[in-house]
Amino acid sequence: MTVTVVDHPLARHLLTELRDRTTPPTRFRALTKRLTAILVLEATRDLPTEDKTVETPLERTEGSELPGIVAVPILRAGLGMVEAVTELFPGVGLGHIGLERDELTLQPSSYYEKLPSLNGRHVLLLDPMLATGGSAVRAAGTIKERTPATVRMVCMVAAPEGVKALEDAHPDVPVVAAALDRGLNERGYILPGLGDFGDRLYGT
Ligand code: URA
Repeated sequence: MTVTVVDHPLARHLLTELRDRTTPPTRFRALTKRLTAILVLEATRDLPTEDKTVETPLERTEGSELPGIVAVPILRAGLGMVEAVTELFPGVGLGHIGLERDELTLQPSSYYEKLPSLNGRHVLLLDPMLATGGSAVRAAGTIKERTPATVRMVCMVAAPEGVKALEDAHPDVPVVAAALDRGLNERGYILPGLGDFGDRLYGT
């Protein structure tokens, strides 16, 4: 499995503001959208395209066309990443997986799943915090049962524990993140991280 940490000054700038505990939800949502766009561009860099011939006003030339893409945010924090994807790829399909973490066992339990056909399509799994990896492992498993062409995980911050869990379970799922942080605390939060992403996104 490959982990790509996007090393771009704008990505670092946006992430720093996201980490700041004083950043309010309205700003947090805007920053999430902008950083997601950068990460998704990186995650889709190697998407296979199909050749397409077009007529310019002057002559015929060869171009390319995107394959079928589906974005699957993990509820609820992943919702903050959707708008960036739909703006970049207006034709994208959308599915949703609802997983919540049991605060004692830290294991994910499913409360919602609605997916379009994933067969032969390229799936972007959206979850801003790859912490223990439990949710990502579970969601990637659910997605892969539906025979997509590829699955790519896009997150803001990854912890080494989450990267290892995903790599062990799904070595074919690459991760693109804005940072690989130090590790998890005893409650499963990423350090230094940025806190509870869903709470910061929605002000709860
Ligand atoms: N989920 C979050 O929102 N934040 C973390 O640090 C870990 C999991």
